[in-house]
Amino acid sequence: MICQGWPVSSLRSRFLFSLLLLSSALTGCAKNGATRWETFPITVYSDNQMISTPDAQADFQDALNFWEQKTGRKIFNYKGTWNSNNPPYTGTPENPGTILENVIFFQNPWHTSSNVVGQTIVTAQGTSIDHAIIMINPYIEFCHRDCSSREWGNSSRKNLIHELGHFIGLKHNQDENNVMYPILQPGGSLEGLTVNETELAEALGI
Ligand SMILES: [Zn+2]
Repeated sequence: MICQGWPVSSLRSRFLFSLLLLSSALTGCAKNGATRWETFPITVYSDNQMISTPDAQADFQDALNFWEQKTGRKIFNYKGTWNSNNPPYTGTPENPGTILENVIFFQNPWHTSSNVVGQTIVTAQGTSIDHAIIMINPYIEFCHRDCSSREWGNSSRKNLIHELGHFIGLKHNQDENNVMYPILQPGGSLEGLTVNETELAEALGI
């Protein structure tokens, strides 16, 4: 399984999604149910590495903008870097307990398969998402901006767009052009990337 959801209690649930490299086999995914954030914009933080270079910062901003442009709404309230020596969750990366803050960060050391480029964990009370984290694999060589000329380039911004899709409550989609396709397609061009408008509207409650 590349992603699975497992109930922690009858009221509280947690969902985990992974994005794979193109070379990986596609397997099934657990349904995440109709969970959504109740209020927008959602407060988010990044780690320092996420914005460590102009290219990295541009990709991060492009990813946030992608969803806001798709919806015409202010979805994220980016509050800067998560300044803590501790991870934004309790427990281990394999089995996080409580998510302390919504942070997008490089998880080092990487805790799961080397072909997993990113992983999003969402926690919910009933159908209301209360927290989410996005963990990025620090050992992947990402390319930045529109790296379409690099045939097998692992796009940082497309990876972030995909994980942010989970972050706001979207599930995987089996259309290769859809940004929620569970295998990262080569290149960083956002042209022709599609979203499931119905699911997006449901996730945002609009
Ligand atoms: Zn995914």
